[in-house]
Amino acid sequence: MKKRIFSAVFTLIMGMSLLAGCNTQPEKLEFTTFAMDTVMNITIYSEDQDGARGVSEALTSLLAGMDSMLSATREGSDISQINQSEGQPVEVTGWTMELLPQVLELCQATDGALDITAYPAVKAWGFTGEEHRVPPSNELAELAAKIDYTAVELGMNTVSVPAGMEIDLGAVAKGYAGDLLAYNVRDNNLSSALLDLGQSTIVAVGTKPDGSPWRIGVRDPEGEDYFAVVELEDMAMGTSGGYQRYFEEGGVTYWHILDPKTAAPARSGLSSVTVVSPSALTCDGLSTALFVMGLEDGTQFWRDHPELEFEAVFVTENGEIYRTAGLEGRFSLADGYQDREVTVLE
Ligand code: ADP
Ligand code: MG
Repeated sequence: MKKRIFSAVFTLIMGMSLLAGCNTQPEKLEFTTFAMDTVMNITIYSEDQDGARGVSEALTSLLAGMDSMLSATREGSDISQINQSEGQPVEVTGWTMELLPQVLELCQATDGALDITAYPAVKAWGFTGEEHRVPPSNELAELAAKIDYTAVELGMNTVSVPAGMEIDLGAVAKGYAGDLLAYNVRDNNLSSALLDLGQSTIVAVGTKPDGSPWRIGVRDPEGEDYFAVVELEDMAMGTSGGYQRYFEEGGVTYWHILDPKTAAPARSGLSSVTVVSPSALTCDGLSTALFVMGLEDGTQFWRDHPELEFEAVFVTENGEIYRTAGLEGRFSLADGYQDREVTVLE
C-alpha cells in the first residue's frame, strides 16, 4: 500500500515537473527593421524574453551600423568615400575591411560574373534611384570597359579604386549581414531563430523550437506564390531574380542584375537562382553570379567548386526547374506545383 502511495506521489510530481517544463517552452519574439533598402523580419525563440529583447536591439543597431558603413548611396559611408577618392587610397577598418577581401575572392572564383565595380553601370541604368533609363550602346561599351574588379587594390587597412571607377556591395551586403547576425544570435546562446533579411536572403539558426528544420519557400519568379520549399537547419538561402527590381520600357523588361561584360541586364535565360549554403555571403554573392552565368555555366561552376559548399535551384525563363543533387531530401515542390518537372543536376 505504502509503495502504491509512493508511486502515485512520484507520478504526480513527475507530471507536475513535466507541466512546469512546458511553461518554460521557448517563446517567439518577432521584430521588423528597415536596413539596406529593405524590410527585414527577425524571429527569435527563447525562454528568456528579456534576453531576447536585448539581442533584438543589438541586431537592429548592428544592421544600422553596417548599412551606414557599407552603403554606396549613403553620404559618408566607407564605400562612398572610396568612390569619391579619385584613385587615392582610403583608410577603412571593421566590416568593410573584413568583407572586401571575401567578396573579391568571390569575384575571382566566378571569373567576374560577380563584379563589385559594376556600380557606374548600375547608376547609369538608374537602379540606385527612381529615374530609370536605357543607356545607348556606346555608353554601355564605355561602362563595360571600366568594370574590372582586379583593379581594386587592398592594402593593410586601405582600399584603392582607380579614378573613374566605383564599387558597390549591393550584391553581397545582405548576405554578409546575415552571417554576422547569425553569429551574434548563436553567441547569445540562442539556438532557434530565423533571420529574413528581405529580398530573399534568409538565415536559419538551428531548427524550429520543436526540433524540425525550418521550411522556407522559394518564390515563383512568375508570380507571388512559392513554387518549392527548402528545409534548412543552420543554413542560409539566397535568391536573385530579374523580378526583384526592374523597369519596363518599349515592351522590354530591364532588371538590376547586370552582366559585367556588357554593362546591361544579364540575359542568360534564367529568371531566378536560389543558392543554399552554410554561408549567407556565399548565397548572396553566388545567386547574383549564377544568374549572370546562366544554367549551363552555372551548373559547371557548381561542379567545379565543391569547396564553396553550396547547392542551387535554377528557374529558366520558360519555367523549367533545375536543382543540384545535394538538395536531395531537403527540396520539395509546393502545393499547386506538384505536377512540375524538376531536373536534378549531377
Ligand atoms: P538583391 O539585392 O535584390 O537581393 P542581388 O543580391 O542579386 O539582388 O544584387 C543585385 C545588386 O548588386 C544590384 O542592385 C547592383 O547594385 C549590384 N549588381 C548588379 N549586377 C552585379 C554584378 N554582376 N556583380 C556585382 N554586383 C552587381
Ligand atoms: Mg546577391
